[in-house]
Amino acid sequence: MFNVENIRKDFPILQRKVNGKPLVYFDNAATGQTPQLVIDVIANYYQNYNSNIHRGVHSLSQEATDAYEASRKIIQNHFNAKEAYEIILTSGTTHSINLVANGFRTLLTKGDEIIVSAMEHHSNIVPWQMLCEATGAELKVIPMNIEGELVLSNYDNILSDKTKLVFVNHISNALGTINPIKTIIKKAHLFGAAVLIDGAQACPHLIPDVQDLDVDFYVASAHKMCGPTGVGMLYGKEEWLKKLPPYQGGGEMIAEVSFNKTTYADLPHKFEAGTPNIAGVIAFGAAINYMNSIGFKAIEVYENELLDYATTQLLGIDGLTIYGTSKNKTSVISFNLDGIHPYDVGTLLDKMGIAVRTGHHCAQPIMDFYNIPGTIRASFAFYNTKEEIDNLVEGVKKAQLMLQ
Ligand code: PMP
Repeated sequence: MFNVENIRKDFPILQRKVNGKPLVYFDNAATGQTPQLVIDVIANYYQNYNSNIHRGVHSLSQEATDAYEASRKIIQNHFNAKEAYEIILTSGTTHSINLVANGFRTLLTKGDEIIVSAMEHHSNIVPWQMLCEATGAELKVIPMNIEGELVLSNYDNILSDKTKLVFVNHISNALGTINPIKTIIKKAHLFGAAVLIDGAQACPHLIPDVQDLDVDFYVASAHKMCGPTGVGMLYGKEEWLKKLPPYQGGGEMIAEVSFNKTTYADLPHKFEAGTPNIAGVIAFGAAINYMNSIGFKAIEVYENELLDYATTQLLGIDGLTIYGTSKNKTSVISFNLDGIHPYDVGTLLDKMGIAVRTGHHCAQPIMDFYNIPGTIRASFAFYNTKEEIDNLVEGVKKAQLMLQ
């Protein structure tokens, strides 16, 4: 049974005050909060079995290796990957995307095309631009409409035999739009193009089934899923991961090294050079288990209630505009007040203990599309409450009065 008051007790940070007021944390699209249980997993690692993985015969190293590999299994099961070695452990979404983009340098040539959407995070734009510069491939963009939805008829027009890769986020971190990724993947496959889905914003809210989606690559970050920062995952279909060259060279990723020739380890180690964030990976698994113990269905229902409530309340404020009004959206409200800079509103809200984000949210093309410098973004998680939304609405009204 979903009980938000009990859930809030799991998160020590939610008990603190900011500027003398109880913290209202609405910056979940930047990073989520961490339950005590996950913090304990990190402490337990350092207190009891801190050791390097995969190469020790001693007990500590084996315990650490077992816990690390158990986490890979948890992630595999959660995303329904066919094989554990199709899960590559990385430092986060950005690292995962760069790993794939770098690998495609060997597979693309001039004349090839890659497609991104108009509502990507910079981490899903810049690596592809660098890939285009390195290979001579051309970048095409699926445009969006005023509601903040991708225009799929336009996607049909730019897809062709030249398309080699398509990159779209599952849910936009700036607008909250849930993109129709299954359709996007299916259409790309008709032309033999591979698809990478950026799931950083989606994974705190839903469970992607990578086999059902038939997606080639899917990436996410632990810190948005109740886990620690600096850890993430790349799912890749075995056939693609085998085709891509290693991203970084170093220890752990080799089979044999000599000065004449080095051979690489099998999947997944080929992509995991060096000592990873061992405690972080183990905590990532614990965070996924924690979220599943609450249940993603219950999380979805509750967060949709919060979103509807907040949307209605905020729209009651004169001069407030919400960007991203698709019916298919979740947990993010980006808005502005007429004639007032978002940064000023964010600063005043902070004085009231309310954490929102202001600016372009690493998605500058979206701001250019709406012709605005940025937005105020309130993003919700399952541990937020309607009372906190009431505080936000009151805070925005006060800020409007003070800044008008
Ligand atoms: N893509 C999206 C949609 C995101 O929301 C984020 C994080 N805000 C990223 C990519 C980048 O994730 P990270 O900084 O953890 O690499």
